[in-house]
Amino acid sequence: MSRVLNFSAGPAMLPEYVMKKAAAEMIDWQGSGMSVMEMSHRSREFISIAEKAEADIREIMAIPENYRVLFLQGGASSQFAMVPMNLLRGKGAADYINTGQWSKKAIAEAARFCKVNIAASSESTNFSTIPPRSEWSLNPDAAYVHYTPNETIGGVEFHMVPEVGDVPLVADMSSTILSRPVDVSGYGVIYAGAQKNIGPAGLTIVIVREDLIGEEISGTPAMFSYGTYAKAKSMYNTPPTYSWYMAGLVFEWIKDRGGLKAMEEINKRKADKLYAAIDNSDFYSNPVDPDCRSWMNIPFTLANPDLDTEFLNQAKEAGMVTLKGHRSVGGMRASIYNAMPEEGVDSLIAFMADFEKRNA
Ligand SMILES: *Cc1c(COP(=O)(O)O)cnc(C)c1O
Repeated sequence: MSRVLNFSAGPAMLPEYVMKKAAAEMIDWQGSGMSVMEMSHRSREFISIAEKAEADIREIMAIPENYRVLFLQGGASSQFAMVPMNLLRGKGAADYINTGQWSKKAIAEAARFCKVNIAASSESTNFSTIPPRSEWSLNPDAAYVHYTPNETIGGVEFHMVPEVGDVPLVADMSSTILSRPVDVSGYGVIYAGAQKNIGPAGLTIVIVREDLIGEEISGTPAMFSYGTYAKAKSMYNTPPTYSWYMAGLVFEWIKDRGGLKAMEEINKRKADKLYAAIDNSDFYSNPVDPDCRSWMNIPFTLANPDLDTEFLNQAKEAGMVTLKGHRSVGGMRASIYNAMPEEGVDSLIAFMADFEKRNA
């Protein structure tokens, strides 16, 4: 068996522990005589898998009692609409912070439902910064404040939780959830597509404060109401059972490694050394303000873009793949989520230094 170091932004690498355990249980889950994929979601077996996954994410993230954890489909992109549908609660406006491509998509979708106030934007710096909190113009009557703690494409990350008073704070944590501890009680809603840091694609996790559930706008389809899923324990219809099970294995793996505090230490170390390697060279560069650089997605460019293709080809030969930057940004992007081992980052840094030596 030969595995590559996969720097994909998503779907991304999964921990080897998780895939080995899933492989061992693939055709006969714990003596049930069937695969998790073949189980009724109403079966005792699957309900035990589902409940354990929920208990484990609650434990890892220290999710307070008054929050519900919903296991949905539709990706983070569906949440761009579900958030306004469920959280407007009679109000006509919501605040959005625009820090990049994913913020913009969330904004465009919300504009179908309400007046969107762009309370702050870093577009004038080409999204290489986070607008300082002191410069945000929040609307006290907003239904909620939405932001993107980690912009997966631009590689910009908030390293603090913005203070927004009593207005519920909503976060698209798709590419940073589980990378470090987070104080869930500071949020109204946290949502994330699974395929970056939780598990395989097909599952979307929504963590929502209970008092925000149940006042969706009139005409909201059942499948788009948080209340539907909260009432039915995410089993109103068939949930993405196998992705839910795989996410549960990822939560187990995180627990075994020492939880989010341990993940934070490793992730910070991984990011710090890759940024140091980029900053200490004139051959590579990263455009993002050092105060808001992402720990998960690290874009970098080569001083001579004519070498991009050669860089990617040689990296691939060395067992490192999916380093090509997003089409809107160009250059390279190394996504180094929880499942990317520290040695993987070390290998990338060594390769980059060697490539520079041969081509500078
Ligand atoms: C990947 C990503 C999305 C889109 O997720 P889907 O699950 O494909 O809808 C949205 N927001 C952020 C921050 C992302 O990284």
